[in-house]
Amino acid sequence: MSWALHPLSEEQSEVQKLAREFAAAEIAPHAAAWDQDAHFEPSLVTKLGELGFLGMMLPEEYEGLGVDTGTYLIALEEIAAADASAAVLMSVHNSLPTQMILRYGSDEQKDRFLKKMARGELLGAFALSEPDAGSDASALATQAVKDGETWVLNGTKSWVTNGNTAGVVLVMARTDKPDARRGGRGIGAFIVTPDLPGYNIGKKEDKMGLRASPTVQLTFDNMRVPAANLLGDPTQGFVYAMQSLDNGRLGIAAQAIGIARAALEHSVAYAGERKQFGHAIKEFEGIQFKLADMATRIAGSRALLHAAAAAKDRGESVRQFSSMAKLMASETAMWVTTQAVQIFGGYGYVKEYPVERLFRDAKVTEIYEGTSEIQRIVIARALYGQS
Ligand SMILES: Cc1cc2nc3c(=O)[nH]c(=O)nc-3n(C[C@H](O)[C@H](O)[C@H](O)COP(=O)(O)OP(=O)(O)OC[C@H]3O[C@@H](n4cnc5c(N)ncnc54)[C@H](O)[C@@H]3O)c2cc1C
Repeated sequence: MSWALHPLSEEQSEVQKLAREFAAAEIAPHAAAWDQDAHFEPSLVTKLGELGFLGMMLPEEYEGLGVDTGTYLIALEEIAAADASAAVLMSVHNSLPTQMILRYGSDEQKDRFLKKMARGELLGAFALSEPDAGSDASALATQAVKDGETWVLNGTKSWVTNGNTAGVVLVMARTDKPDARRGGRGIGAFIVTPDLPGYNIGKKEDKMGLRASPTVQLTFDNMRVPAANLLGDPTQGFVYAMQSLDNGRLGIAAQAIGIARAALEHSVAYAGERKQFGHAIKEFEGIQFKLADMATRIAGSRALLHAAAAAKDRGESVRQFSSMAKLMASETAMWVTTQAVQIFGGYGYVKEYPVERLFRDAKVTEIYEGTSEIQRIVIARALYGQS
């Protein structure tokens, strides 16, 4: 059975096969143990870099694969179906820091960072959220003050995916005066490296799911960032971050679809094996209807996602479609994994079987890179012609 409604190009089929084989050999066998131990596997970064999966949408001049968005999302779905933690590492790195430097960086910044990021020598992270600025990210308080040829940064960033392993972090900080709270204006984006004095890695979160993906707090204590590391215009960093999140949300949708697909595949197999009342439970209509609804919601989510990706690659603005794709895919992932646990019965509730992990991993897709409520706000605003 083919999982994709949209026709795959030769390149997409090759990338899908490569990602599927890599995930089956190098990720899936370890996913449960990495989850249990909250273990981040550093060799994964090296291997993903060798495959070209950490520079998927970067042009070849920066040693990227130079593929389109749809091809990138196909690879991401395959990785996510094996392990959602591995997928978020790849999604954040490809969608946010690399794309921000590519789109808004100077030639010198691109030369300095992008090749190393594509090779996996520098893992990227994105630091926007703060303890008091989550959904309302423009309320961020990290302050950047220009002092000669450096910017001095002070503040705290929360929830930074890859934050304790990253070699380059895109940090959004306020560049206007501390008392001039002007929403998204007056915020700069800085390319920060962990060797800078004043860069401190704080607590690592003990999470419900996505446990093999480290999520940490970062604090900046009079951290001096060279002026050469400011990205573009010092007042436009929030705009850059929001534009990048339009891409990022497509990645999270692909991650959610991968989780949901894995839950469906495990459910189909289990329902064929598990016998009750003298029959395999797949013979019961109550189970068949669940499986049919799971497959339908996944196919719908994937079709919307790839339509949004194609529109993006045509150069169209996809803000609302990106939000719709993430909203639909993440709610599908949560719903599908809930059905999967139900189909497994008591065995769905224990760690011995994989759907318990998929259920926990699915939840975060409704929260990060904008909660479902925030996606609905973005979509509703677009209905009234507001950005
Ligand atoms: C595992 C994980 C990894 C993450 N990785 C990163 C990362 O790499 N970089 C980064 O910058 N951030 C990251 N985040 C942060 C994430 O983006 C935020 O958690 C998210 O934006 C929500 O912010 P919050 O947690 O402060 O919730 P809040 O904003 O406090 O929201 C609480 C609740 O209120 C609702 N709400 C808020 N405002 C409204 C409104 N106007 N209308 C209706 N409902 C509303 C929300 O939807 C939510 O249900 C990560 C988070 C997690 C859990």
